[in-house]
Amino acid sequence: MSKVLHQFLQDNLNDLKEKGLYNEIDPVEGPNGAKIKIRGQELINLSSNNYLGLATNEHLKEVAKKAIDHYGVGAGAVRTINGTLDVHVKLEEKLAEFKGTEAAIAYQSGFNCNMAAISAVMDKNDAILSDELNHASIIDGCRLSKAKIIRVKHSDMEDLRVKAKEATESGQYNKVMVITDGVFSMDGDVAKLPEIVEIAKEYDLITYVDDAHGSGVMGKGKGTVKHFGLEKEVDFQIGTLSKAIGVVGGYVAGSQDLIDLLKVRSRPFLFSTALTPGDTVAITEAIQMLLDSTELHDKLWDNGDYLKAGLKKIGFDIGESETPITPVIIGEEKLTQKFSKRLFEEGVYAKSIVFPTVPRGTGRVRNMPTAAHTKEMLDEAIAVYEKVGKELEIIK
Ligand code: PMP
Repeated sequence: MSKVLHQFLQDNLNDLKEKGLYNEIDPVEGPNGAKIKIRGQELINLSSNNYLGLATNEHLKEVAKKAIDHYGVGAGAVRTINGTLDVHVKLEEKLAEFKGTEAAIAYQSGFNCNMAAISAVMDKNDAILSDELNHASIIDGCRLSKAKIIRVKHSDMEDLRVKAKEATESGQYNKVMVITDGVFSMDGDVAKLPEIVEIAKEYDLITYVDDAHGSGVMGKGKGTVKHFGLEKEVDFQIGTLSKAIGVVGGYVAGSQDLIDLLKVRSRPFLFSTALTPGDTVAITEAIQMLLDSTELHDKLWDNGDYLKAGLKKIGFDIGESETPITPVIIGEEKLTQKFSKRLFEEGVYAKSIVFPTVPRGTGRVRNMPTAAHTKEMLDEAIAVYEKVGKELEIIK
């Protein structure tokens, strides 16, 4: 190995470990459901994004298996050569129906999708107003576009208005875009989309909402844009197919022209192999399930409310979440990691989230209840929280 690389790796790894920022990965031994097995131990799982429990849904497993029998395991090529299967076209039609738009385009992941979509439309002569808590894939997509990135204070509409005015009136940029997560996954708060859209109209901003954590959760399952009734106002509706939908992939839903352009210009569509047929069919069917019934959505919210009430009652700071995402704010990084480790030992998997994912001193254990949890599981988890919280003197 190159000596320079060796030294670089050692320095970085040691530094992260000393600061308590090195993240150990625990492989899950089996399905990622409401209960999981790690290192042979069965745990109540409060850390996956499988909001509706669809990742392990029997019906979706069946349709994926049938698709594999018919099409094989891989799409065989990128979308623009001959990797576009009829099932991809059906998926994109279903996505447009789900999001109330003219058209949609699917990508291999949500991360990929942000890299693809932002850089296909924005360039060095443009500016992007980006909420400071936007997801890493948005930040990377913005960087890739080479547009000027203007950070906006989190959900601060006054800051957005001032910066939108400055950017548009400066005459420096051809286009200005405003980008936000629909639901912010670290605190569970919801973007102020009606105000954002109003400011966008005033300054002719392009609007881009990444609803990775809102689809399946907000708007009776149809997402945060639908929740506010803004399907006609938001230019880019982005989502992942890996969280509430339970499979993998990402998408943009928007006007026919937008999707037509992305199909010829977005690089992961042109240069990376298409979604597998099994995944594609399972995703399409999962969206159909969300269109047909709100049962799983309702169960998710019911479980979220139940968990929040239980943790709050025993004295934890659970922040100001407006969604089922339930952070338990601990603060100091090492204590947060110790807390999560003790939860694990007592049978609850709730991952600690510390800097740089969240600001320093706001370490938290984040809970993601799902539609697949039972009340008994949540009661058990709350009892463990109480025991460990008292032991580490986080609650009285
Ligand atoms: N956008 C946001 C807002 C996200 O939270 C995530 C997932 N953490 C992604 C994009 C990436 O999605 P995926 O996991 O499907 O690549």
